[in-house]
Amino acid sequence: MNAPAPDQTRDENCLFCKIVAGEIPAQIVHTSDHSVAFRDVNPQAPTHVLVVPKGHYPNAGAIAQQAPSMAADLITTARDVAAQEGLDNGYRLVFNTGEDAGQTVFHVHLHLLGGRPLEWPPG
Ligand code: AMP
Repeated sequence: MNAPAPDQTRDENCLFCKIVAGEIPAQIVHTSDHSVAFRDVNPQAPTHVLVVPKGHYPNAGAIAQQAPSMAADLITTARDVAAQEGLDNGYRLVFNTGEDAGQTVFHVHLHLLGGRPLEWPPG
């Protein structure tokens, strides 16, 4: 149902490409023309949603360079999900990039965290 358009890239071995295509189940909370938002299986806050592009880009820098309008769509979709979740008191958006940041899935995803006070700096 969320299959990428023909101009969008796909990695056959990518977990999030399979979620976008509906081949692996996920708790989807929102979709836009270019993005899909679903709940993280290991939530770190009362609201923990991942916003991913329908096309495959390995990280935030790659999507910003190759498809800036789709990078912007991740952020506007996260804003819409935050409103939908009632996060009126604030929320955090995070792109982990690379091993030192703890990136484990190499299909760019924007973490949306909220529903409790969040400490800074992160660990
Ligand atoms: P990162 O460490 O920034 O790459 O984030 C990857 C996130 O994906 C982690 O927070 C995981 O809990 C989450 N995750 C892994 N597999 C799934 C899945 N099948 N559905 C939803 N979230 C997942």
